[in-house]
Parts: sequence; C-alpha cells; structure tokens
Amino acid sequence: MSSLLNKKIVYSITNFTTLDYQDHLSCVVWFCQCNMRCLYCYNEAMLYSKEGNYTIKDLLDFLEERKGLLDAVVLSGGEATSHSLLPICQAIKKLGFKIKLDSNGLNHDLISELVEKELIDYIALDFKAPEYKFEHVTQTNQYHKFKKSLTFLIEKKFDFEVRTTLHADLLNTYDVNQMISTLSELGYDKTYYLQHFLETPTNVGNIKEAKTYFDESKIVQDKLVIEYRNTLS
Ligand code: SF4
Repeated sequence: MSSLLNKKIVYSITNFTTLDYQDHLSCVVWFCQCNMRCLYCYNEAMLYSKEGNYTIKDLLDFLEERKGLLDAVVLSGGEATSHSLLPICQAIKKLGFKIKLDSNGLNHDLISELVEKELIDYIALDFKAPEYKFEHVTQTNQYHKFKKSLTFLIEKKFDFEVRTTLHADLLNTYDVNQMISTLSELGYDKTYYLQHFLETPTNVGNIKEAKTYFDESKIVQDKLVIEYRNTLS
C-alpha cells in the first residue's frame, strides 16, 4: 500500500451524491484510465490522463474527514479496476465505508477477488453490447471477459445490477432484445437498467445524437424487469 499512497490515479472526486448508490450518501471517486474506448464515452480526459489530480493518500485523507457524513464510496472512472483496488478497498473499508464499484467487467480476476474478500458491497456492471457488436462499440474484443464477470456475479448471487447505455445508431432494439435474452439465459433475475446516451461536446467516437429512432415498445418485457434511467421525452 505504501507505494500506492503517492500514486496520482484519481482524476476527481464528487464530494456528495444521493443518486449514484441507492439509499446511500456517497462520494464518487473518478479514476484515470480505462481498458475500453467506447464510442460514446464522454470521459475522454479521464481515459487518456496518465496522471490524475489526487493521490490515494489525498483520497483517504478526504474520507477520514467525511466519516459520519457519508456512508459509502463509489469507485468509478475511467475503469477503477485498471488500478490495484485491493489495498485501496481494504483502506476504505477500514474507515467504515460501504463500497460500490462501477465496472465494465473486463477485469474478472480483480472483481472476483474483491467479491470473495468481501471488499465490495454492490456492483453496477455495464453490458456494452451483444457479442457481435462488442468490439465495434467498445473498441476491444474481450466480450468473453465481460461474460465471465457477469456469470460469476450471477452464480454468486451477488448484489449487483446490469445496465446499458443506449445509442440507437450503435444498438438497435434487436440488439437490446438479444442482450435481454443473454441475461435471462444466464440466470440474471434483477432489474436491467437502460440509460439513453447524452450528447456532450466531446466523446471518444465524436458521435452525435442518434439519427435512428429507438422504439422502446419493441423491447421484450416478459423476461426481465426493465427500467429506463433517463427518458428520451
Ligand atoms: S464509457 Fe467505456 S471507455 Fe468510457 S469509461 Fe466507461 S468503459 Fe471506459
């Protein structure tokens, strides 16, 4: 841990939110770097920064001061599992906080270790695309690693959610229905969250609002509970 303390791998910290981790008052830690390059990603600065603005020591000092004011820490990014999260989570837990991890699921080994060691309380797992579109959307060909993490969390009956960002030029209703089938076949029985792409001035693929209409009525409803997090209208 001592070598990690002075590493500037935290891009920024959101001091307080009630929105990110349901029923918790949390801060959000935005880690630098990611092992994907999703076309709609608006976190470009975080992805490409080799160095962040805060060290792990800065983070732990911040949390020390928030004891009693916050009850949870959300590890996000970028991709938090690009870093040595094990000692970081141990240190956060020692301070008495619950931990939620936002992840794209590629780092199965680290995710499973964190879960087995009870260092994570909740995971929001991004299901980026069906296997046949995964490489196009994420610019990585590692769907099998995502699937391994998904299967692991389902089999563990871990407290987690699966979510997908919708951009209708990248994922159409057929694709999303395929993803619903995959989740259902693997035994996922929780809510599947769909969130619409929000256009920002810059994103990795320089994409704009979708030209294609995403007809929500064509989404299969009888396999999973589907919830939209931000609607088009
Ligand atoms: S949207 Fe994709 S590229 Fe951006 S941080 Fe998330 S996983 Fe990484």
